[in-house]
Amino acid sequence: MSSPHPYSDTAACTATSQIHGGAAADTGLRPVTPPVHLSAAYEFATLRDAREAFAQREAGFTYSRTGSPTVALLERRVAELEAGTGGVATASGQAAIALTLLALAGSAGQSPDGRAYPQTPAGHVVASAKIYGGTADLLNDSLADAGISVTWVDPHSPEEWAQAITEQTRALLVESIGNPHADLPDIAALADVAHRNGLPLLVDNTLASPYLLQPAKLGADFVIHSATKYLSGNGTALAGVVVDTGRFDPTAEPEKWPQFTAPTPRFGNTPLVERYGAGAVLHLIRAKYLHDLGPCLAPMSAQQVLEGIETLDVRVEKHCRNAEALAERLLTHPAVDRVRHPSVPGDPNAEAARKHFPRGTGAVLSFEVTGDYRDVERFINALQLFKLAANIGDSRSMVAHPASMTHCRLSPELREAGEITEQTVRLSVGRENPEDLWADIQQAFTAAGLGKNDDAAATVSQEATV
Ligand SMILES: *Cc1c(COP(=O)(O)O)cnc(C)c1O
Repeated sequence: MSSPHPYSDTAACTATSQIHGGAAADTGLRPVTPPVHLSAAYEFATLRDAREAFAQREAGFTYSRTGSPTVALLERRVAELEAGTGGVATASGQAAIALTLLALAGSAGQSPDGRAYPQTPAGHVVASAKIYGGTADLLNDSLADAGISVTWVDPHSPEEWAQAITEQTRALLVESIGNPHADLPDIAALADVAHRNGLPLLVDNTLASPYLLQPAKLGADFVIHSATKYLSGNGTALAGVVVDTGRFDPTAEPEKWPQFTAPTPRFGNTPLVERYGAGAVLHLIRAKYLHDLGPCLAPMSAQQVLEGIETLDVRVEKHCRNAEALAERLLTHPAVDRVRHPSVPGDPNAEAARKHFPRGTGAVLSFEVTGDYRDVERFINALQLFKLAANIGDSRSMVAHPASMTHCRLSPELREAGEITEQTVRLSVGRENPEDLWADIQQAFTAAGLGKNDDAAATVSQEATV
């Protein structure tokens, strides 16, 4: 599915909605900047109001674990930027992925009142093998402990996704820009596979941000963010958000989704779809999983992300241009074997980039160093401006060695499927002057004795090996 207009995949993420989206709550005080609401609890005028709010028959803030005005503004703003119908913010991106998968694929059925309710076993998830290491840990370990199983597949092969789907599958999960190699799966094709099987497609849009891509336009059912990264933009606060794009309808196959379509005592023996309609999934995420497990977003952190979002477009532009400049120069360096970024001529993702990413493909890129692990180690240790840190989307440029860091717990098979080697170096390109960044990379190669460009370094390394 190609976009009819080059900017149609991002059209709703405008500079105006970055600043005004989601309309702040009216407190009557008329502050120009929405205030931070630092209150753990919210009071009720009467016991009747409290009773209705706790029974979830009336909306309203009760206790900040399940929502507060500042967090709610962030949820509305990100939902607007992602062309969604609503969102739930969480303490981290990891929490947003975990709660969403629990709501869709967790085992369902409960009998706190002693009556028997139908028990539905935990489900199965089909996920991209080229994925953030923390998401791999979550699915391989903690969610596996909770009975949720996973099949890892090639993000570029929709046929593999279709074949991996079983009776128990409840969600498909992919990253719009893969980590660490910046590969671009065909989201529309994966959405098609999901929808033909009556399943929702979850897209982790962290590396792209809605400024570069709105997965809702390509058929995603849920869009997830680690708002820690580009939405926040300064590497200060952790935050996560899940947005419902309004496509997924559990009533199409009610027996497959009893957690939304069957009455449960927790929600007044009324199915969530009857009470909340299209908001049923987000309600389960908030009122059950966020409430019970507690990974809630602090209002101060929500405010930091809201402030970050105001400058999303100008920041991401600079990130993209800097990354493209470095990718182009890395290509020419003799110590570099392969550069993976869709801006690189001949990159297998160049066509997808042209079609869906008119503004750029983000600032995470990887390359393979010619040499062995010790060469890579000397190079990384010699970098000065690039911080050796496991983060992306910061103002500051960062370097990571995925095999030792973010992806260190991956099985050899999953690491191979993700094409992560001992020589793979990942850069999260920041917003410094690109000339300074390139100078840092060049001096680090030289200091590591890598690259024929530098005669002095070549002589030294030859002497060292004699
Ligand atoms: C960082 C990251 C996460 C996890 O988010 P946290 O905010 O660190 O919990 C998930 N997905 C991707 C693609 C990420 O980069």
